[in-house]
Amino acid sequence: AAHGVAKPNASPSSIDYRSFDEVVTPILGRMTLAEKVGQMTQVDLAGLSDVDEVRTLALGSVLSGGNSDPEKGNSREAWAATYESCQQKAVASRLGVPILYGVDAVHGHNNVLGAVIFPHNIGLGCANDADLVERIGRVTALEVRATGTQWDFAPCIAAARDDRWGRTYESYSEDPARIAPLGAAMVRGLQGDDLRLPTSVLACAKHFVGDGGTSAEIKKSRFTGQVGLTLDQGDTRCDEATLRRLHVAQYPASIAAGVGTIMPSYSSWNGEKCTSHTWLLTDLLKNELGFDGFLISDYDAIDQCHDDYKTAIGLAINAGIDMAMVSKRHHEYLELLTELVEEGEVPMARIDDAVRRILRVKAAMGLLDSDYQPGVDAQAGAEFGSSNRRDLAREAVQKSLVLLKNTGIAPLRPDAGRVHVAGAKADDLGVQCGGWTIDWQGQPGDVTTGGTTLLQGVRDVASEAEVTFDADGANAAGADYAIVVVGEPPYAEGFGDDADLELPAEDLAVIRRVREAGVPMVLVVLSGRPVVLDEATVDGADAIVAAWLPGTEGAGVADVLFGQTKPTGTLSFTWPRSAAQHPINEGDESYDPFFPYGHGLTY
Ligand code: BGC
Repeated sequence: AAHGVAKPNASPSSIDYRSFDEVVTPILGRMTLAEKVGQMTQVDLAGLSDVDEVRTLALGSVLSGGNSDPEKGNSREAWAATYESCQQKAVASRLGVPILYGVDAVHGHNNVLGAVIFPHNIGLGCANDADLVERIGRVTALEVRATGTQWDFAPCIAAARDDRWGRTYESYSEDPARIAPLGAAMVRGLQGDDLRLPTSVLACAKHFVGDGGTSAEIKKSRFTGQVGLTLDQGDTRCDEATLRRLHVAQYPASIAAGVGTIMPSYSSWNGEKCTSHTWLLTDLLKNELGFDGFLISDYDAIDQCHDDYKTAIGLAINAGIDMAMVSKRHHEYLELLTELVEEGEVPMARIDDAVRRILRVKAAMGLLDSDYQPGVDAQAGAEFGSSNRRDLAREAVQKSLVLLKNTGIAPLRPDAGRVHVAGAKADDLGVQCGGWTIDWQGQPGDVTTGGTTLLQGVRDVASEAEVTFDADGANAAGADYAIVVVGEPPYAEGFGDDADLELPAEDLAVIRRVREAGVPMVLVVLSGRPVVLDEATVDGADAIVAAWLPGTEGAGVADVLFGQTKPTGTLSFTWPRSAAQHPINEGDESYDPFFPYGHGLTY
């Protein structure tokens, strides 16, 4: 009542999950309590003591966060084999209900070697092209299914309202109106025409809700252990109308597109955890917005809902969490949830509702069909990382770039005498790809997923020019012009919370050296968000291009620099003058940005 009267105003989902009850009800009727709580549990592959636990505990799902050792499991073949061994266990359980195997494929199938890595969402938000996003979702689904995996924890439809948040690049935009159609397009692309097809992947819109709206606080970071500015997993403080306008508004489009799962956020709303928030999860999301799929908690997010794990589990399940994502406490989790049911703290009706929701989605995916086959189709990997798919990523890079400034130097002439490329980041696939690439945090250097660095792209596109390169800008003198590449090193989640958003000192030194050499300069910024560009840097550059985190196809940047394609991207985030202006968003009362929301030049 404190939140007003909820009116059912949802547009119908393109998938009627309730229509699968005919298949689901008889299975639910045969399940023991142990099988029901097993179904409500997803365990990290790395946390299983043995894959046979999938069978013995009748688990509903397994997630794989990848493995940074390529010898051990990041190849497509190893990934598929691991998937198959888990799925064989599931079908060998008493009722034989298959698992959903889940992964974070947030810009292509980014854990797997050789996969095509697309630009992170911030770049796709600047491209603002729903058809492009849908095609990316399609290719991502094909690469994900080629390894057996059927569930992707994407798209992130957060509206990042403060760029100091380490997940800003996972957000399409500060504006939910720009996010909504892009999120829905990603859902359509991943889930395909019919979830039952072996080329479809179950999508997961995340993180409900207000993940991008948390207030900056000075405290000890859960990630780094250091005291400093933190935003990730924080508290979004606003009234209900603001929450709806900025953070709920992008969800109905994904629900209407048929998204099968939604992940509640680690963060809180006005001090109350979203993961155990009955009004948010049950009243608003399930009842008012008409979400008929199931809710998967974030990774060990339930643990954060109360100091006592059992109490936390009761709060979260009763609030509406249907499946828990558990790193390794699964035995304890299963035991405590069982106790809660036996003690009447969690009603059996809630358990049945959760299991029914999970089974409906599995039925929609054809997993409950009598002729279901757990194996991975040998042909599915045929085009993995193919050049056709890389062409789509290159198109996405071209469209994601934002030309912030141009005195007329760009487009660059491909037949100029000497082009000098400066800055170590110009020749670094890992930096281009950012976080969530092979490793959770990403890493600079050769990430061996294939692809083209920006430098290689320049060499290919400006094939008639002499292209020279150095990491520090010292050899710029005498060149016709310089392409200086600067930016942020890779990071993910709370590790990326950053109070200053300044370019690294070595990058600023490269800019200074090239300016001192008196060579006309195009500055390319590789970053997960607008970084601070001081007046001197901006004045000293003849052109500035925001290239975001473009992924493996660096040639797309060269295409735009040399005018093979025109820049068409527009800022989906406000670019501030200084970090002190954060949070800064279009519509603020005293809006005085460096480059406003929507800015983007062309030739
Ligand atoms: C992130 C989620 C992700 C999950 C599973 C969490 O740390 O917040 O976005 O889907 O891990 O890897």
